Amino acid sequence: MIIFDQVSKRYDGGFEALSSVSFHLKQGEMAFLTGHSGAGKSTILKLISLMERPSSGQVRVNGQLANKTSDKMIPFMRREFGVVFQNHRLLFDRTVFDNVALPLIISGESPKDIPRRVRAALDKVGLLNKEKFNPIQLSGGEQQRVGIARAVVNKPALILADEPTGNLDPQLAKDIMALFAEFNRVGTSVLIASHDLALIARLPYRALTLKNGKLIGGGMFD
Ligand code: ADP
Ligand code: ADP
Repeated sequence: MIIFDQVSKRYDGGFEALSSVSFHLKQGEMAFLTGHSGAGKSTILKLISLMERPSSGQVRVNGQLANKTSDKMIPFMRREFGVVFQNHRLLFDRTVFDNVALPLIISGESPKDIPRRVRAALDKVGLLNKEKFNPIQLSGGEQQRVGIARAVVNKPALILADEPTGNLDPQLAKDIMALFAEFNRVGTSVLIASHDLALIARLPYRALTLKNGKLIGGGMFD
């Protein structure tokens, strides 16, 4: 699903955020990406989601060589995965339903299919009864679940999550991880960037560990 082959990333200004990082995330696998703040976790997610390009090495997502993807193809590639953010980035000028519907509208989904798809996604995160609410009326954990519904409404093959439990207490964090595990169980690949070592240690998934832009653990696979 994801292959990094000796990937380095040097930002403008010369800072090397990643040096020669190699790993595989298999189709249907769920894994963590961990390391201290500044270790390069977000940079890896940005390379996968084509927000940044590698300075050297190869990034493959779903068989496609990310380095060679033309700008025109990027929106199509991005439909293959759903992204969950720490602060969920919901829009507070519209309902929960309309937030979750947004990716479907952007990808040109037929309007007659939208309500069914949105409700299927809200059902999976247990928020079917909140579709008419404004997200501002929901708790932090519920807002994050709306963010997850929005990420999965397009039925992506891959979920990328950047510190998805960063603002949640431990019980809510556990619930959110259980949701990811549920999507993983039905075949979705999941990569979660997190520095919550206590949470990661309790869960049975591989942890790719970064330190100062180098992979120091979890990279060996196959
Ligand atoms: P993490 O997600 O693990 O906190 P990041 O991938 O965000 O780490 O950052 C890795 C390093 O790269 C940090 O030192 C950060 O300051 C630097 N960095 C991230 N984005 C940029 C950028 N756009 N330009 C320059 N440096 C950046
Ligand atoms: P988040 O809180 O979502 O992890 P960050 O604060 O890490 O976001 O980064 C916000 C933006 O600033 C990102 O687009 C990142 O690429 C950029 N950025 C991060 N570190 C640097 C840096 N040292 N120099 C320039 N841009 C940076």
